[in-house]
Amino acid sequence: AELPADPNETNEIRQVSNALFSYVNPEKPSNPKLIHASEDVAELVGISKDEIQSEAFLNVFSGKDILPETRPYAMCYAGHQFGNWAGQLGDGRAINLTEIEHNNQFFTLQLKGAGKTPYSRTADGLAVLRSSIREYLCAEAMHYLGVPTTRSLSLMLSGDEVLRDILYNGNPAYEKGAIVCRVAPSFIRFGSFEMITSRNELKNLKQFAEYTIKHYFPEIKGEPKDQYIQFFKTVADTTREMILHWQRVGFVHGVMNTDNMSIHGITIDYGPYGWLENYDPNWTPNTTDSQNRRYRFGNQPQVAQWNLFQLANALYPLINEAKPLEDILESFMINFDNDYKTMFLSKLGLLTSTETDNELIADLESNLQMSETDMTIFFRNLSAVKKEDTVEKAFNKIKDAFYILDEISNNVLENWTNWFSSYLKRLDIENLSNEDRAVKMNAVNPKYVLRNYMAQLSIDAADQGDYSLVNELYILLQKPYEEQPEMEKWFAKRPDWARSKVGCSM
Ligand code: AMP
Ligand code: MG
Ligand code: MG
Repeated sequence: AELPADPNETNEIRQVSNALFSYVNPEKPSNPKLIHASEDVAELVGISKDEIQSEAFLNVFSGKDILPETRPYAMCYAGHQFGNWAGQLGDGRAINLTEIEHNNQFFTLQLKGAGKTPYSRTADGLAVLRSSIREYLCAEAMHYLGVPTTRSLSLMLSGDEVLRDILYNGNPAYEKGAIVCRVAPSFIRFGSFEMITSRNELKNLKQFAEYTIKHYFPEIKGEPKDQYIQFFKTVADTTREMILHWQRVGFVHGVMNTDNMSIHGITIDYGPYGWLENYDPNWTPNTTDSQNRRYRFGNQPQVAQWNLFQLANALYPLINEAKPLEDILESFMINFDNDYKTMFLSKLGLLTSTETDNELIADLESNLQMSETDMTIFFRNLSAVKKEDTVEKAFNKIKDAFYILDEISNNVLENWTNWFSSYLKRLDIENLSNEDRAVKMNAVNPKYVLRNYMAQLSIDAADQGDYSLVNELYILLQKPYEEQPEMEKWFAKRPDWARSKVGCSM
């Protein structure tokens, strides 16, 4: 990096100025143990299969040893949390080891849970096994679903105990400490730009923007001001594509604060995320957001736009003209709405568009909610519907997806009958054969996603030292669109015990 680093090389908690990072070394774990490593990610960054099993891999990615000629650092960033300006946040428990170039791509390797940094504020800088498994598995699952995301290289036990206030019983308890190594082009966030601008460091802002563009967006050329506008447009475009994927697969991030928004348009920071089970746009997995539901499923596009607005504010001093930024923000939503429609139609196997499609989509979204329908199972099973099916036959193919079949009212049944009769008519004017349509639908409607209860089962086993389920889910989720007959048990509705109280919109 070109900016001067915070020269005070300690992990003492502090406010930092004139720098966007501080050098800090990971805490040495007492007894690190490798639980899982991704061979694909290793290969991506130039680490061989054999090397994964080495002592060096264990030591470097647990934070025990520092690679020669590297200087680990924590990044300083700010952010808007739940709509409010939060000031300096920074990597409180993440430490970047180094950046490497492999096959003409840049990768930053970052340990999460490797101890205190100047940005740890009141917390311990550590991560527990539970949250580390959730992050490790979900990032990889997202990648294989085709959703832009950080990647997971490794999951390790630190061998140390971490004190946490577990939500279930309210009593603090020790949990196993863990460290994930995650990988991304960079970990620069919207909040990185907000940090400098809020400190009024305009020279640094310019230097940082220039650095970011030159290093990570080399395709952006031209006058400086145009470059900054193009940069903002690129971030808006990639962010829009990312959110579109989230809506397609039913992913709810849960903490879309501006410090959790990557300038690369990749999903970052897997905390209280969740997957829609019964289709409910009001659902959020985040218990701390259960009142306002700012980060609910259906609000993710609006929040992304709001976050982009904050980034625009942070970049404004470089541009000194609101119009180009406003135009990009405005087209964000227009483009999103168009893309959303195309995406939704593709989930239905419809490649053309007609005037009644908006209604078809709206009616379906309403039906899915009224009969508490499992999103993944519904769309997956819908591909079995044939043009020549009767309404009843088609309906029977998706009924398994309902959570409340017994109590379904006549009113709701009638809505479904109407919907299927429109849908079957709609299929008739498409040129695709039933078989071809099914193939296309199954490529956008995953069969397997990381349901909350699945992650929880793997966590419970891992707590007892059994990592076989972590491994099984990892393998399952590498092929989320493929039929895996021996894994069919994971193509199932959430069991009753796993029903989220927060998730209900009523
Ligand atoms: P998040 O909501 O996970 O994005 O975290 C918000 C801020 O809290 C970030 O600055 C994190 O680095 C910080 N943070 C979260 N957990 C910890 C922890 N255990 N120790 C130190 N900082 C933390
Ligand atoms: Mg974060
Ligand atoms: Mg987090």
